[in-house]
Amino acid sequence: MKNIRGTLTENAPIGAQSWFRCGGAADLLFKPADEDDLAAFLSQWSADQPLTIIGGLANTIIRDGGLRGATIQLDKAFSSVKVLNDTYISAGCGALNGNVAAAAVKAGIGGMEFLSGIPGSLGGALRMNAGAYGAEIKDIFVGATAIDRKGNPHRLTAEDMHFTYRHCGVHHDLIFTSAILKGRAEDYETVKARITEIKAKRNETQPIRECTGGSTFANPSETELKKAGLPPGTRAWQIVDMVGGRGLRMGGAQMNELHCNFMINTGDASAADLENLGNELRRRALYDLGVKLHWEIKRIGQES
Ligand SMILES: Cc1cc2nc3c(=O)[nH]c(=O)nc-3n(C[C@H](O)[C@H](O)[C@H](O)COP(=O)(O)OP(=O)(O)OC[C@H]3O[C@@H](n4cnc5c(N)ncnc54)[C@H](O)[C@@H]3O)c2cc1C
Repeated sequence: MKNIRGTLTENAPIGAQSWFRCGGAADLLFKPADEDDLAAFLSQWSADQPLTIIGGLANTIIRDGGLRGATIQLDKAFSSVKVLNDTYISAGCGALNGNVAAAAVKAGIGGMEFLSGIPGSLGGALRMNAGAYGAEIKDIFVGATAIDRKGNPHRLTAEDMHFTYRHCGVHHDLIFTSAILKGRAEDYETVKARITEIKAKRNETQPIRECTGGSTFANPSETELKKAGLPPGTRAWQIVDMVGGRGLRMGGAQMNELHCNFMINTGDASAADLENLGNELRRRALYDLGVKLHWEIKRIGQES
C-alpha cells in the first residue's frame, strides 16, 4: 500500500470491541486519516479481495472466525459535528449519534433527539435508517458524501438513499463519509426536555447496560403479518414472546427478560451462541406462527 496516512492494524480484535463483546479479529483494520486517504486505500485494494465497512459495531455480530481481507472503520478523523445554522448540521460519518444529538440540543435544533439513545456512528445510522420514538434518519436526512469500492467520490440526495424501515437501498459498496441533516429551530429547553424524556424511557425499558446489539429482529411488515394471520401492528418482540423467547438461553446468549427482542451476551457467549439463538427463534416463529422474523442485527465474518 502506497501513500497511506491512516492506521493499519493486522489481526485487530474487533469482536471484543463490538457491543456484544465477542467474535473474532479482522485480518487488516484500516482507519483512514481523511477522505483522500480512504480513496487512496480503496483504489489500491483490488475488487477480488474482501472488504467490510464497520461503524461503532452496535448493530453487528462479528462471527467467531473473524473478518477476512480489509475492514474499514471511520473514527476520530471523521467525527466532526458542525452546526451550520438554526436548522442544519453537517457531520462526519464517524461521529457518534449521541454527539450529533448533543450538538443539536445545544444549538436549539429540534427533531434530532431520537439519535441521543441510538448507540453507534452516523455512518451506521445512515445504513440502518436508524430510528426510535417515531422518528428515523430519513426524516432529517438532506444529503451525504460517499466513496465507492474503487475510491471514487459520490454525492447522494435523499432520493438516492432509498430509505425504508431500518434499511437504506444504496449499493452496499458505498462508504458514507459525511452527511447533512436538517431539524427545526426550537428553543434549547424544549429540545433538552425531550432528550431527558427519551433517556428516561430507555432506562426503564431497555437493557442499555448489557452487551447487546439493540433489536434483534425487525418488526414484520403488515403484509407478512396478514399472511400469517397475526393481528396488524404485531411487533417483533411480541412474536419472540409468543414463541417462548423471553429469557431463552443458548450457551452464553440470552433473550433479555425486560425487552425480549434484545439479545444479550451474559458473559461468555460466543458469536455462534448469539446467532444460533436468533436462528432458533426464527425457526419457531416460522413453524409455530407461520411468520418470518428478519434479522435487524448484521452478522458478518467467518464461522470458526
Ligand atoms: C442498547 C442499544 C440500543 C439500540 N437502540 C436502537 C434504536 O432505538 N433504534 C435503532 O435504529 N437502532 C438501535 N440500536 C442499533 C444500533 O445502535 C444502530 O443500528 C446504529 O445505527 C448502528 O450504528 P453502528 O455505527 O454501530 O453500525 P455497525 O453496527 O458498525 O454497522 C451497521 C451497518 O452499517 C454499515 N456501516 C457502518 N458505517 C458505515 C459507513 N460509514 N458507510 C456505509 N455503511 C456503514 C455496516 O456495514 C453495517 O452494515 C441499538 C443498539 C444498542 C446496542
